[in-house]
Amino acid sequence: MIDLLVIQPTPFCNINCSYCYLSDRSNPDRITLSVLDSIIQQVLNSNLCGDTITIVWHAGEPLVIPVDYFALLLERANQAFHNKKISVTHSIQTNGVLITQDWCDLIIKYNINIGISIDGPMNLHDVNRKTRSGKGTFNSVMAGIKLLRANNIRYHGIAVISKHSLLFAKELFDFFYENNFYQLGLNIEEIEGHNVKSSMEDTSYEAIYSFYKELFDLYVNSGMKKMRIREFDNYLQAILRNPEILDINVLDIQSHQIRPFAITSVNYKGDVSTFSPELIGQNSSEYNNFIFGNFSTDTFDVLRKNRLLKKMTAEIKSGIKKCKKECEFYSICGGGAPANKFYENETFNSTETLYCKYNIQIPASIVLKYLEEKIQ
Ligand code: SF4
Repeated sequence: MIDLLVIQPTPFCNINCSYCYLSDRSNPDRITLSVLDSIIQQVLNSNLCGDTITIVWHAGEPLVIPVDYFALLLERANQAFHNKKISVTHSIQTNGVLITQDWCDLIIKYNINIGISIDGPMNLHDVNRKTRSGKGTFNSVMAGIKLLRANNIRYHGIAVISKHSLLFAKELFDFFYENNFYQLGLNIEEIEGHNVKSSMEDTSYEAIYSFYKELFDLYVNSGMKKMRIREFDNYLQAILRNPEILDINVLDIQSHQIRPFAITSVNYKGDVSTFSPELIGQNSSEYNNFIFGNFSTDTFDVLRKNRLLKKMTAEIKSGIKKCKKECEFYSICGGGAPANKFYENETFNSTETLYCKYNIQIPASIVLKYLEEKIQ
């Protein structure tokens, strides 16, 4: 089944973050209505839809699309799915710089979930999230957040944690908490696509552990209600699941990146990819830039027979088998994110990455220790 349909309405981004993994972010092309129609038709014809579908409008920056045109895209998608009695949830991940009252009206009208990419207070955010002329974007993002608040629109945040942020766990927590984010997701700066180095590569395990530990203590002391922290919640959920569920991949906490088409990613041209959404269109001669077909012509049945997709699926499966055999975190991880394995280990058929250590093993260890102390 399709858990998420990720649509990139344009590769263009209005800003220029230093750690960005997108190589085509200066390309201003955008999706046409006929490409959108083809995507929806193929999805509807696939038998991979349940009663609901979530469409995530994602990278480049979705809000560079004129708001009237975006309304047309949403209306068209809603009509097509509603005709088949499928309810649609829309989500937008945005850098927040271009939020206006018109966007707020659209967000309310279509009940869109909004995620803001913001790295914390100005001293953390502006280090990496800059305009194309090199200025910090913090004040523009905060103006957007103020507008969302004035319109009673809920928003969650995703913060990229780079080396510089590690000394500021409390400032980071307080910022998101006081600015009424209902959820915070932490992305430790990754090696992916265009971003071939991470500031975290030469950072000690202890420094990252202390950062997460301070954040977790603040989270627990806050009562874990007003603002949820995604990573800690994921591992609490994984560890505290029904003990009869032996394989974590039965749950959907981590697993949609390892099932073909559970995440179906489509770019503005209708090119289709799957597994980790950040793979689409990244350079790879081995995997045809991770494009397995185009929805203008190819059905899911055609895509499933794609030789490179079969090869990739087999490699991902072999990597997961190795994880199961070798990694003590498998029972709460399930084999991880394929894109990180590919970029760090140069093959999907592999196990541990920096992403594992920093995004999975450290926060999971902290949660485990907390639960152990609680039951003693
Ligand atoms: S933490 Fe990494 S090595 Fe361990 S199971 Fe997950 S992906 Fe595999």
